[in-house]
Amino acid sequence: MFILFTLQIPAAILIISLVIIGIIFYLMLNRHKIQKEELQRKIQAGKEDIQEQIDRAEKSESYKEFFLANMSHEIRTPMHAISGMTNILRRNEHPKEQDKYLDAIHQSAENLLVILNDILDSSKIEAGKLKIDSIPMNPVQVIEDVVEILRFRAEDKGLQLKHLIEGNIPEQVLGDPIRLNQILTNLASNAIKFTESGSVQISLRVIQKDSEDLMQFAVEDTGIGIPDNKLKTIFDVFEQVDGTLSKKFGGTGLGLSISKQLVEMQGGNIQATSILNQGSTFTFQLPLKPILQTAPKEMTITEEELVKMGASLGSLKVLLAEDNDFNVMLAKDDLSYYIPHIEIETAANGKIALEMFKSKAYDLVLMDIQMPEMNGYEAARKIREWEEKEAQANQTPIIAMTASLLKAEIVKCYEVGMNNFIPKPYKIEEFIGTINEEAMKIQ
Ligand code: ADP
Repeated sequence: MFILFTLQIPAAILIISLVIIGIIFYLMLNRHKIQKEELQRKIQAGKEDIQEQIDRAEKSESYKEFFLANMSHEIRTPMHAISGMTNILRRNEHPKEQDKYLDAIHQSAENLLVILNDILDSSKIEAGKLKIDSIPMNPVQVIEDVVEILRFRAEDKGLQLKHLIEGNIPEQVLGDPIRLNQILTNLASNAIKFTESGSVQISLRVIQKDSEDLMQFAVEDTGIGIPDNKLKTIFDVFEQVDGTLSKKFGGTGLGLSISKQLVEMQGGNIQATSILNQGSTFTFQLPLKPILQTAPKEMTITEEELVKMGASLGSLKVLLAEDNDFNVMLAKDDLSYYIPHIEIETAANGKIALEMFKSKAYDLVLMDIQMPEMNGYEAARKIREWEEKEAQANQTPIIAMTASLLKAEIVKCYEVGMNNFIPKPYKIEEFIGTINEEAMKIQ
């Protein structure tokens, strides 16, 4: 009995211990399960959070693009009025002492346009939306154009702006003349900006690398130079050697970074060397392939030729569809200055333009794109439909005038039946030159 009793106690303890261990084990397993579920819940929440953040970032990226494209358009329109009317004031009679104010307005508008274009380009590159063309171009011509445009700025500072073409350069290569012009203009403008005396030289020669022919462009100045420790970072976004200098000369610190990216997008490389207080040289190489056939040369029109061109157009009847009063004033003034016998009628939106077009014969239509009631695309499309319905023998040339430089919008101008386009703000030779080009086709 005693033995039985003494055996029962350890058995009970054992059973109780086993039950306790079982409970602990169960609790541990359950806790582990709860922890696992908790972890899975957190991972799921984390995933959703990350996805939400990606969605938000993507949304904000496309919002940024949309915002920039629209802002650029909104800023371009008043800038077009500012720079255009400054030009009118400059060419009309005015007190001599006002020259410096007019020059200042003109220069500020130009600077603003450069900044605007830089910001747009930078955001396009970032979004992978900037495309490089591959069309026939003459690299020497591009250099000459840049020298021509910057000559006055260099002369103003008493600097010599030279170009040097070494050896035989193919007359026609495949490349992107606009982007090459942009890179060279940017480097040469910097060179002029940061040089107080001496010269700036743009040179071109062909070099061989890994048995491939490369075109090597260099922009050399005798300016303030760049310290060694800054040379490595000078191509980074917003990098400037001396912030106080940028206050004096203007600038955003975007130019070199855009130039570097444009060079690299064309399969090239860019480098800078410099000696402080002696000067800097920016060199880049591009694999521009020579082509044999010759493309028509880009036309540069002098003031004298413009006046002659305008006079030869005779009495041109133009319908100008434009809702902005300042732009109407500007276009009318420019047109009647260069084309003395022109007749201009205006329409404040596409709908009015369409009705006017139906009721009277015009030689040419200048069509703004963004207008109330009916925009330029719609009006041009309806004009073409009407001409077809009326079985008109010839289509009247329609030239789009647009502050948007987005390729898709320019393509759309042609798709709806327009024949050409003039960007705003326009250069007077683009404006009169394009009108002349279209008017010649109907004469
Ligand atoms: P920005 O000229 O608008 O400031 P950039 O990216 O074109 O921007 O140039 C960045 C900086 O590099 C300039 O602010 C200047 O400090 C320096 N830099 C560029 N080109 C030259 C040059 N030719 N000589 C001296 N410094 C230069």
